[in-house]
Amino acid sequence: MKITRITVYKTDLPLEHPYWLAGGRLKFENLDATLVRIDTDEGLTGWGEGTPWGHTYVPAHGPGIRAGIETMAPFILGLDPRRVLEVERAMDLALPGHLYAKSPIDMACWDIAGQAAGMSIAAMMGAQDSRAIPIASSVGAKTVEETREVLARYRDRGYVAHSVKIGGDVDRDVARIRDVEAHRPQNEIILYDVNRGWTRQQALRVMQATEDLRVMFEQPAESLDDIAAIRPLHSAPVSVDESLVTLQDAARIARDGLAEVFGIKLNRVGGLTKAARMRDIALAHGIDMFVMATGGSVLADTEALHLAATIPAANCHAVWACQDMITVDIAGGRGPRAQNGHLTLPDTPGLGVHPDQDALGAPVASYGG
Ligand code: MG
Repeated sequence: MKITRITVYKTDLPLEHPYWLAGGRLKFENLDATLVRIDTDEGLTGWGEGTPWGHTYVPAHGPGIRAGIETMAPFILGLDPRRVLEVERAMDLALPGHLYAKSPIDMACWDIAGQAAGMSIAAMMGAQDSRAIPIASSVGAKTVEETREVLARYRDRGYVAHSVKIGGDVDRDVARIRDVEAHRPQNEIILYDVNRGWTRQQALRVMQATEDLRVMFEQPAESLDDIAAIRPLHSAPVSVDESLVTLQDAARIARDGLAEVFGIKLNRVGGLTKAARMRDIALAHGIDMFVMATGGSVLADTEALHLAATIPAANCHAVWACQDMITVDIAGGRGPRAQNGHLTLPDTPGLGVHPDQDALGAPVASYGG
């Protein structure tokens, strides 16, 4: 089987509510999504998606994905998409780094490989079950009262895992954490996600002031160096998310004991093939995981769900449903949808969901015959 054509679509995914990242980074209202269709000489078609969470979150850029695919396309055409490691190697040779540009190609190849084998991607990766996996909420509220209201809305919808966004004002962060913990049901997982919004001193002040609560923080400072520097000075468990990009990052975090949890976002780390190695490093070192799309449609959510299905339930805290934060549906209601705060994989070969091509409009680029 050979890749004969790569077709690239750009589509806007407007957010239901504008989003502000902590630390004064810019507000954004729209996600720039790249959808990629790969055709083969045997008639199978695979789809991939690359949707960064805005352009100020991490070094990933919608137009950069499309430019990267233009550069890599000549090296990918003609390869067998089922041999995902060969495609990965070709991409890494054609364009070192730029992992976010590679993930949609990797995803489309896994989709084709699964369809060819008559198995879901999760099954192709060796997973046995299609259990319902909890979705982490995304609580971007600002005040104690708003935080209570947003959490209550999620709890009413069955959510048992929450990512409460903090960062910025030390006293307000401490007050919000104390209030959330005072009202927290026993069965819930709550992660306080700083999104790199604290300096070292801010991180230490909040982490030390809440030490009695034994809560967990995600990405409490800008870099792995920052996280390592404050590590001996607090006792809170840490999840690393934005600073976990390469396999070398994963190895350093595990070796130096910088975190107890990996937040693996598929587009950021370069797709399923590369993310699976991070999963293995995590499992080998007693590190738990959150697995999720960086952003995007139900396709990106589904990709994350396939990887999550390969992780024992006890080690995978939650996934995420970015689909619930956007106002358009490019897949006409198909694919896994949030139900009672959980997502369940479809029992169909490959990825299990494809977009409505009509919803995507005309392609912006096409490579191959
Ligand atoms: Mg995070």
